[in-house]
Amino acid sequence: MPDSITLLADSVVAGIAAGEVIERPASVVKELIENSLDADAGRVEVDYDDSGGVSITVSDDGCGIAADQIKLALTRHATSKLCRLEDLQSLGTFGFRGEALASIAAVATVELTTRTRADVAGVRVMVRGSQVEGPRAAASQRGTRVRVGDLFAGVPARKKFLKSAAAEYGRVVEVLRRFALARPELHFTLKRNGKTTLELPGMGDLRGRIGQIWGIEVASSLCEIDTAYDGSVLKGYVSTAGVSYGSARRISIFVNRRWLRDRTLFRALMEAYGGYLLKGRYPAACLFLGHQPQEVDVNVHPAKLEVRFARPDKVVRFLVESVGGAVRDGSRQLGRWRVEDRAIGAQARGTRYGSSSGGGWLDESLAASAGTSAGADPDQVPAGYRPSSVPALDEHQEPSQEPLALGGLEGTLGVLDVVGQVFAGYIVCQEGDSLLLVDQHAAHERLLFEKMMASYNSGGVESQPLLMPLTVRVDAEAVAAVAGCRRELEAGGWSIEPFGEQDLMVRAVPVLVAGSELTGLVERLAVDVRDSGAGAGRLVENLAATAACHAAVKVGTRMDRDTARKLLVDAAEVSFSACCPHGRPVGRSLSRSQVERMFGR
Ligand code: ADP
Ligand code: MG
Repeated sequence: MPDSITLLADSVVAGIAAGEVIERPASVVKELIENSLDADAGRVEVDYDDSGGVSITVSDDGCGIAADQIKLALTRHATSKLCRLEDLQSLGTFGFRGEALASIAAVATVELTTRTRADVAGVRVMVRGSQVEGPRAAASQRGTRVRVGDLFAGVPARKKFLKSAAAEYGRVVEVLRRFALARPELHFTLKRNGKTTLELPGMGDLRGRIGQIWGIEVASSLCEIDTAYDGSVLKGYVSTAGVSYGSARRISIFVNRRWLRDRTLFRALMEAYGGYLLKGRYPAACLFLGHQPQEVDVNVHPAKLEVRFARPDKVVRFLVESVGGAVRDGSRQLGRWRVEDRAIGAQARGTRYGSSSGGGWLDESLAASAGTSAGADPDQVPAGYRPSSVPALDEHQEPSQEPLALGGLEGTLGVLDVVGQVFAGYIVCQEGDSLLLVDQHAAHERLLFEKMMASYNSGGVESQPLLMPLTVRVDAEAVAAVAGCRRELEAGGWSIEPFGEQDLMVRAVPVLVAGSELTGLVERLAVDVRDSGAGAGRLVENLAATAACHAAVKVGTRMDRDTARKLLVDAAEVSFSACCPHGRPVGRSLSRSQVERMFGR
């Protein structure tokens, strides 16, 4: 991007979509983060303070603004990113109107502190009303910090339209998450009233980032999209067939790295799922459409939330075919099965699957549905979208469960005939014309995870006190982290407290893991807690995934046919998806024709 900030010519100003860009606190956050990204920042921190009025500070380590240009940056229609209207076509930056800082300064006090790589000292300007103080020298790291205070204090009309503090903050979180998805390699931090609420270190790949934001559970159930057609590319991740959610909250579509609220693309995504989604259900999707700049016009909406495609039909077809193809391929893999329960010998009922599995849980009645009720979140679904009325496919599917797993293409659940176990780790089954291999550890892990999450969602995971409290050595950081997450741990069935500087005292554990080796598990949990900057919901999910993995029957454990069958019966009864909570597949299938081909038939 060119370095110097210049005033746009009147003719250019007249040609760009104008309008109110600062509507609410989240719009300030959006504009300031965009500026940081345009400045090639590697780290962006947002400090949101709504303890009194609203003030927002966004700091970055980007290129900074030269001292002699800092005042210009705050002037309307001054930008370093665009000179001629023709250049709009080939723009690689978020900003181009030179309006954001000026618009923010019109409704708040702005203090801008910045230092470029070339400068030894920083500079600062303050804007209050129409008064500009500075620039004067100020200590500064390389980069830019914009502090926006008393937001809307002088604009009562605007204030009236704001929602509750929690709702406005919620929008800020959404904005931050979207940028984090768009730029997985960057480090984002969000603080609210001085307390860190989101810490997202740069990730090597998008799936990792999705895991940070939507949870590993969601991330591991996605399939990858990477297609190209006629100069356009589509990359990202979408839910496989059979996994769906009661809200459209986990759908993010970006065009040329810009997040959009675009009805056409949203519809296209839903269309791609065709008959694979029940009414009122939505996939998770994080999709990046890349177009030649001349194929998409970003200059149609003041907040740039909508774009115009030169050839919208082509875009829709490309998206529907790319996503639809991936979904259909995925659905051919094993999703869910049914096993004839009466075929199980009496002696296998109530048995454990192997020495390492949890105590006593087989006799428990299976946990009730963990579901959130279906229904579109009006905020997330673009206006004009109506859920399709795909009928419920089968009585075994419970549309209220999340994630929801369907069976094969026709929607019926296959009946498995368990043949036996091989390599002390895989259950061999026949289902109609398919040979299925089920990973016993992954299946059990999935089952335990679903049960724990179900009981967590219905009031709390059942906990079992230890006869003798157990002390586990971890590190001081982990001790502090565990102490800070007592509530989430308790909701997950754990009673763990600090015991000196480097030890934890474990008093109770979830019933489902009571029979397994606990020291190693607690060590892993402590590391999980220490390393997750996550919100409470995800932390519990992570804890459950770790516990499930630890307590699940290991590969290497022999199982007779009845026990294997019982495992599959139980697994079939919980809300199930085709992967273990860490993303490995639970089962793989070979068709009869594949087998026949192996033998030249
Ligand atoms: P725009 O982004 O449309 O150019 P803004 O009002 O958002 O308009 O910013 C005006 C100018 O100030 C930008 O073009 C850029 O040169 C400079 N600027 C703003 N924020 C930053 C930042 N965080 N780092 C470096 N330069 C910035
Ligand atoms: Mg800008």
